[in-house]
Amino acid sequence: MAVKILHLYPEEMNLYGDKGNVICLKKRLEARNYKVDVINVGMGERIPDFDILFIGGGQDKEMSIVRRDVRRKAEELSYYIHSGKTVLAICGGYQLLGEYYKTASAQVIELSGALPFFTEGAKQRLIGNVVFESPFGKIVGFENHSGKTYIANELCPLGRVISGFGNNGEDSTEGVLYKNTFGTYAHGPVLPKNPMLADEIIKRALQVNELPNIDDELENLCHNSLVSRFT
Ligand code: GLN
Repeated sequence: MAVKILHLYPEEMNLYGDKGNVICLKKRLEARNYKVDVINVGMGERIPDFDILFIGGGQDKEMSIVRRDVRRKAEELSYYIHSGKTVLAICGGYQLLGEYYKTASAQVIELSGALPFFTEGAKQRLIGNVVFESPFGKIVGFENHSGKTYIANELCPLGRVISGFGNNGEDSTEGVLYKNTFGTYAHGPVLPKNPMLADEIIKRALQVNELPNIDDELENLCHNSLVSRFT
């Protein structure tokens, strides 16, 4: 049986090569002899069952293009997230999982409400390299968002910011980790830059504690050098 990776809104939500996350997951699975099917899911389509669901980032314009469809998919998204399926959502894709996004020009975009958080746009964008401490090690990425995200107290952030802005530039939180759903502002794409995060996502999707080693010395060298450069 092939591992099923769903890419939600690949046309609209794909900034800074976020699709590289899907390629990275696929390659790391194939290196361990898994067969992988990547399935694109667009507007107006149902979300079929999956092993990993990926949503990339998008500008405000793209978010207003998908907003109605996100509301239609709200129940499905909520169901998958709360039943513990593995999800990775980046920046605008991460914002889609929350209750609403109020743009810097005060336009309110109602979103899925799958998780208890909201995002409000600030005039000054949060831009640059970000490094944060997570339960899986230090994660490095690139962020560029106007939205400041505030997560409810009962939600765990994915990490604590070491350098950069993260969720809002105020409370040192970065992203969200709820059951097996990972939300983060880190573009990059984030997974090729952080192989341990890619493997954590794969382990959760496959429900295994360990994965066979693969030759990823170069990826780890790159990760370490980016972390030390940006901290
Ligand atoms: N539209 C969002 C913002 O600017 C997300 C941008 C992104 O995905 N990089 O906050």
